[in-house]
Amino acid sequence: MESGQLIVITGPSGVGKGTLVKLLLAHHPELTVSTSATTRPPRKGEVNGEDYFFLSRDEFETMIEKGEFLEWAEYTGNLYGTLRQAVEEELEQGKQVLLEIEVLGARKVHESFPEATRIFILPPSLDVLEERLKKRGKDSPSAIAQRLDYAKTELEAAEEFDYSLVNDDVDRVLVELEKIIFN
Ligand code: 5GP
Repeated sequence: MESGQLIVITGPSGVGKGTLVKLLLAHHPELTVSTSATTRPPRKGEVNGEDYFFLSRDEFETMIEKGEFLEWAEYTGNLYGTLRQAVEEELEQGKQVLLEIEVLGARKVHESFPEATRIFILPPSLDVLEERLKKRGKDSPSAIAQRLDYAKTELEAAEEFDYSLVNDDVDRVLVELEKIIFN
């Protein structure tokens, strides 16, 4: 069977990656998304094994040593990583697998999967990003400040990616993503 396609969706926190991925999955049930591991504590309502595999730093570091991550990165003081085996199994079954990850990890995917399609989602502006992070109410004011600080550096990487899309209109960006994925 022909191997599937790995599609990396990256960009700063709050840019709308999660919403776009949810919409893509709702419209195209043949797509799958990889569930990442993290050392970040669960937010209210998050479910272990669904939103993330929530791990201790020791557990995560042991998995790094064993080479179990396709990519991993430290982001605002926590570790986040993509489980290699789960993704490889889906790809072997010919599936199209989405990764929704931050920018340092997205860069690293290129090392193991040079053929991955890598898409960067940009906010219309940093002000809009700040508004979105505040409005979604998931993070404390200090975490929001830290995420915005990271965003400034992350945005500089946009042009390294195969595609960069400004998320000023979710419906339009969704159509753009569909064109890229199902070209
Ligand atoms: P959050 O704490 O808001 O769930 O995620 C913080 C950032 O980590 C987001 O930009 C999210 O896309 C990213 N992220 C989630 N899973 C992974 C992963 O497996 N690897 C990397 N590198 N980043 C991830």
